[in-house]
Amino acid sequence: PDDQPEPDASKKTLVILGTGWGAVSLLKKLDTENYNVIVVSPRNYFLFTPLLPSCTTGTIEHRSIMEPIRNFLRHKKAAVKYYEAEATKIDYEKKVVYINDESPIKGDVSQTEVPFDMLVVGVGAENATFGIPGVREHALFLKEVGDAQAIRKRIMDCCETSIFKDQNPEEVKRLLHMVVVGGGPTGVEFAGELQDFFNHDLKKWIPDIKANFHVTLVEALPNVLPMFSKQLIDYTEKTFKEETITIRTKTMVKNVTDKYIEAESTGPDGKKQIEKIPYGLLVWATGNALRPIVKDLINQIPAQKDSRRGLAVNEYLVVKGAENVWAVGDCAVANYAPTAQVAAQEGAFLARMFNSMAKTYEIETKLAELSEAQEKAPGKEARTQVFEEIKDLQKRLRRVKQIGPFEYSHQGSLAYIGSEKAVADISWLSGNFATGGTITYFFWRSAYLSMCFSTRNRILVIMDWVKSKTFGRDVSRE
Ligand code: FAD
Ligand code: NAD
Repeated sequence: PDDQPEPDASKKTLVILGTGWGAVSLLKKLDTENYNVIVVSPRNYFLFTPLLPSCTTGTIEHRSIMEPIRNFLRHKKAAVKYYEAEATKIDYEKKVVYINDESPIKGDVSQTEVPFDMLVVGVGAENATFGIPGVREHALFLKEVGDAQAIRKRIMDCCETSIFKDQNPEEVKRLLHMVVVGGGPTGVEFAGELQDFFNHDLKKWIPDIKANFHVTLVEALPNVLPMFSKQLIDYTEKTFKEETITIRTKTMVKNVTDKYIEAESTGPDGKKQIEKIPYGLLVWATGNALRPIVKDLINQIPAQKDSRRGLAVNEYLVVKGAENVWAVGDCAVANYAPTAQVAAQEGAFLARMFNSMAKTYEIETKLAELSEAQEKAPGKEARTQVFEEIKDLQKRLRRVKQIGPFEYSHQGSLAYIGSEKAVADISWLSGNFATGGTITYFFWRSAYLSMCFSTRNRILVIMDWVKSKTFGRDVSRE
């Protein structure tokens, strides 16, 4: 077989930006032989983000939740080109994407352009900092594999440094204060995992830190997990209290320095107060912001002038005001929360639509040929035969074209809250169930296992769970 097939001029070029939930679920279901498919992403793997918080403490090893994109693309029917690069600009008028090789090894060419007939933007989002000073310099985020590794390293560094000979007590307290900003599911899941790490392993391995290790979760709103039902919010807050995790609600971080955060809260007298909270580890999980490439595309399309949170898309996920450009996942705004569940369903919808568009094109071409043949057919019998064929094809065409608009089907919200407990708001049939506790935890585990990308991932995750339960998490600082 040809290793580097040239693009087929008779097919349209479909460029997909990203290898996350949206892009990969599109690729999974796409009949790649219908288009010249090109994927551009700086990350040459898919990342199963729901289990990323578990990688920060070594409950799961990060490679267990990564699936190389090459491994997946090689099973597609027709070759897909993949470029490990960052798309730096989309020129909508010229129908070109500019790409940069941002990896450490660069060849003579590390910048070029990729023309497209159709474009799917699935680049996800950045970490929001709201321009708060010091966040980018001093806090750690939790979005990518590198973030989880950095957190894991920092936890261990803080623990070991806190017991350095002759360390003063104030400094010990600071170093062992683990602060998480943002009480959304990322912040809650991380705080839960971290407390587990301490309870199950750290305090046994390094007993000297026992008295001072402390996790605090800071949230600007009156409660954590705003997307969950009241009962589950209360359950989470109660569980955290039992686990001695402090939740500071109605507390908004305004400034970050290398050793403390400054947070505004309302004092007992009803007056606003600014408080300095020292920290050793600071994890910042305050949600999503637009990527520059998305901001730039918004600026090129007049109909997007009011888009603040992402590319506004219509019910077919077409970027409003643009032609042949679609957006999926966290970079698109379609009135749904920016979740993996939404991104995956959007990607699968686009695949169905693109498959159907290709079939439509194929049938329409055939129909045009047949009507020509009908006119030229010698005799009535031959014409009737072609007529029957046309009727059959028209029926097929109607069936193929029957693709309704995208409709999101919410399966529920799930979050791990530590101490082998999880919370779940599940919609089944027409009912809603809100449950929390240990059984929910096993449900959480099995649900996430079944959602894993591949059997390989599933087996690795199970092995990690068994390994960390049997031998404890690895506390070496890499
Ligand atoms: P992503 O999955 O973020 O993928 C974006 C892709 O674009 C990446 O491959 C990236 O490398 C690539 N990219 C970035 N910039 C460029 C560029 N300039 N050019 C080309 N490619 C680019 N959701 C749930 O529903 N359930 C959960 O349990 C859950 N847990 C989560 C836990 C954590 C810690 C986090 C951070 C998120 C979690 N989410 C969860 C949210 C979920 O991960 C996101 O909603 C989802 O990843 C969005 O998919 P996406 O395809 O839009 O973006
Ligand atoms: P989020 O947007 O859900 O929550 C961020 C929180 O940070 C908000 O509650 C906000 O009030 C708070 N905040 C913002 N600025 C602050 C400040 N200066 N000081 C204190 N608090 C501040 O963000 P997330 O948790 O990262 O989640 C992002 C998306 O990913 C969401 O759609 C979420 O549903 C999804 N996700 C889902 C799961 C899950 O289902 N288990 C897990 C992780 C993420």
